[in-house]
Amino acid sequence: MRLSEKCQKIQGSVTLAIDAKAKKMRADGMDVVSFGAGEPDFQTPKYIVEAAMNAIQDGQTKYTAAAGIPQLREAVSKLVEKKMGYPCKAENIVINTGAKQSLLNALQAVCDCGDEVIIFAPYWVSYPEMVKMVGATPVFVKTQEEKNFAIDFDAFENAITEKTKAIILNSPSNPSGAVLSDEEIRKIADIVKKYDLMVVSDEIYDCLLYDGAKHFSITQIDEEMRQRTILINGMSKAYAMTGWRMGYTVSDEKIAKIMTAWQSHATGNPNTITQYATLAAVSQENTEFPNMLKEFSARREYMLDRINSTKNISAQAPKGAFYVMVCIKDVIGKSYNGKKINSSMDFAQILLDETMTAVVPGGPFGADNYIRLSYATSMENICKGLDRIKSFVEGVV
Ligand code: PMP
Ligand code: GLU
Repeated sequence: MRLSEKCQKIQGSVTLAIDAKAKKMRADGMDVVSFGAGEPDFQTPKYIVEAAMNAIQDGQTKYTAAAGIPQLREAVSKLVEKKMGYPCKAENIVINTGAKQSLLNALQAVCDCGDEVIIFAPYWVSYPEMVKMVGATPVFVKTQEEKNFAIDFDAFENAITEKTKAIILNSPSNPSGAVLSDEEIRKIADIVKKYDLMVVSDEIYDCLLYDGAKHFSITQIDEEMRQRTILINGMSKAYAMTGWRMGYTVSDEKIAKIMTAWQSHATGNPNTITQYATLAAVSQENTEFPNMLKEFSARREYMLDRINSTKNISAQAPKGAFYVMVCIKDVIGKSYNGKKINSSMDFAQILLDETMTAVVPGGPFGADNYIRLSYATSMENICKGLDRIKSFVEGVV
């Protein structure tokens, strides 16, 4: 078999693999608690579901323009204007099959083979693979673990070479929950301009903020940063629409055209029914969101308290998203029931086998001293899962 070297280097998504495994174990009747995928446990709000059902009944079941139906591009542009405070037109928006496709489209539009893309670690597991998928090379820049994963600006500037084409930003961050401040974003923008870089800014968790944290987008700085940035957002998180597959990009019109041409061959239009559902979603107030946020916030506080009162593990308070990074440094090198824990991957595997509790290992996110717990799951699961994690980490020798 003569296969692509490039594709054989792509690792499958560990988050999706763990999620699938936990769901299968549960379907087989096992009492699994999953802190795996970042998938809200809430149902998609009713008004969105009804809009989808109406779309099917009205016969909106055909192809649409590759970039999405004009009314949706227009509605998203208005939402962006409202959130960001700068002018945005339908031509700046491309509608995609999930923010995953938005990210890949953006990287396709920006990168050539051999280019380097800077990614801050810890990072979302899909970024390095996506960079490799477009033929570019991921370059990792460590953040300051002790300062809640803040950017290390010296390390950032030192990582820039002649081949650096772009950086990926993700604030609030998956997995660390770190939220970049205004000041940090402005410093990043100065470096981006100085070295003539592009930015892919993944802002999918922009509404999920705690403890008074504020979201600031690099696109809010000035027109030049808007031209240099492809902003990524989507419906999976704030609207609990993971399975609907809906994301979008906000960019300069010229880049939007390039991404549309690419998408017109790659996938064609995003799902038509989902587009109509999303049109309803963004045209009205998402009245269920404040309740979701309140619930996430209560779970986050409960988890932090429990983790920080458990021997051998600890966690810093994340300012955004719905993940807690748990430091397992003191457990690595020890054993549970005779099984040696040499890495975060071993930790996750042994924990699942021994206690039926699924967590995401930090290794594939560039943080092997950590595991990631998603609190997009019920309080009942959280209580049960944390009891199991406690007896596991306190039972290592
Ligand atoms: N970016 C980040 C940081 C994510 O955590 C996710 C998780 N799903 C995505 C993008 C992709 O989201 P989706 O494809 O479901 O829109
Ligand atoms: N982004 C979510 C996560 O990190 C969902 C799973 C995925 O798309 O990889 O868990």
